[in-house]
Amino acid sequence: MNIHEYQARDLLRRFDLPVPPHVVASTAEEALGAARDFGAPVIVKAQVHAGGRGKAGGVKLARDVDEARQHAEAILGMTIKDLVVGKVLVAPAVDIAREVYVGVTLDRAEARPVLMLSAEGGIDIEEVAQRTPEKILRAHLHPWRGLPGYEARRLCFQVFPDDARAALGLARICSRLADAFDQIDATLAEINPLVLTKSGELLAIDAKINLDDNALARHPDFEALRDLDAEDARERKARAKGLSYIHLEGDVACVVNGAGLAMATMDLIQHYGGRPANFLDIGGSSNPEKVTTALEIIQSDPNVRVILFNIFGGITRCDDVAQGLLMALESSPPRVPIVVRLIGTNEERAREMLQGASLETASGMDEVVQRAIAAARGKGGSS
Ligand code: GDP
Ligand code: MN
Repeated sequence: MNIHEYQARDLLRRFDLPVPPHVVASTAEEALGAARDFGAPVIVKAQVHAGGRGKAGGVKLARDVDEARQHAEAILGMTIKDLVVGKVLVAPAVDIAREVYVGVTLDRAEARPVLMLSAEGGIDIEEVAQRTPEKILRAHLHPWRGLPGYEARRLCFQVFPDDARAALGLARICSRLADAFDQIDATLAEINPLVLTKSGELLAIDAKINLDDNALARHPDFEALRDLDAEDARERKARAKGLSYIHLEGDVACVVNGAGLAMATMDLIQHYGGRPANFLDIGGSSNPEKVTTALEIIQSDPNVRVILFNIFGGITRCDDVAQGLLMALESSPPRVPIVVRLIGTNEERAREMLQGASLETASGMDEVVQRAIAAARGKGGSS
């Protein structure tokens, strides 16, 4: 789950990270009030679930309070990466001497969290990572001992080679960020930039946190941080109906029961040269309504050119899935071909039910995937 900068700042403060105060405003008048309280200059920042706000014109320095009101007026309602700005953050501006990047994320290849640091933080960090990856310093976290202090200090002295005070301060910040990452079950906790001010203070003036969806059950209070407006509408609807759906870029939609079979189906689509349009696990129980909802969600994606059903009936009964499929076909005829593989519990009954329905069936996994890809291409020749 992605959260806003202002929420991430609140979380990081709990771990004693040096985050300057802020106020969140949803009108230009509120922003003006905040600027008056802090005293100019202030920074006005768009609050959207997207990076690169600075480059998009969503971060503006105001030299006086009236300018703060003007910036807020311009930024509120602005669109950044398809997201409409509904709130701005107002904070006292800081005098920046240096901008450093510091973040903790999961290194899936190493199966451990990793601390990343760079002396060249700020809005060009993606470019730094791509063009000069050696400028991103890394230290892995131990699964239960966390970040070794000596490792943090070793890297921080590379960031601030002639400033021991800043290097040691940065090392403490790294340890706290690693603690925060661990305790809130984040998949990403990032401060970019962490700045050294002209008076020698270290301050976290931006914060980005992604929370691990699979750990949210351990943090019931985090549910309040969810911004429904900022989430994919299809994923939201799926979650509400108990389906596990993730939108992808391809054109072969798949409806599968069980996460493992869904992954294997997606692998096979790739293997035969197709591209999956989604991950979808309709779950173990077989409620016909889940199938109709799944079809609604899938068909609202304009990229979809075929729908592939791959159901292995164990607890799930093939006749229930067939029932859901027929109900869906009746209420709204599909705009794309459907290719179905129903195997296992009550498959004969399902086959009888589907006889005469306008869909293709297949019995093998390779076969159903190959037919689906062919159907997607037949519909307009995607490559
Ligand atoms: P992002 O572009 O979405 O990552 O937004 P940031 O919060 O990181 O802001 C982008 C850039 O704006 C930073 O890298 C800074 O250079 C600049 N900036 C942000 N806050 C301040 C501030 O208080 N004072 C000054 N002078 N610049 C700031
Ligand atoms: Mn930033």
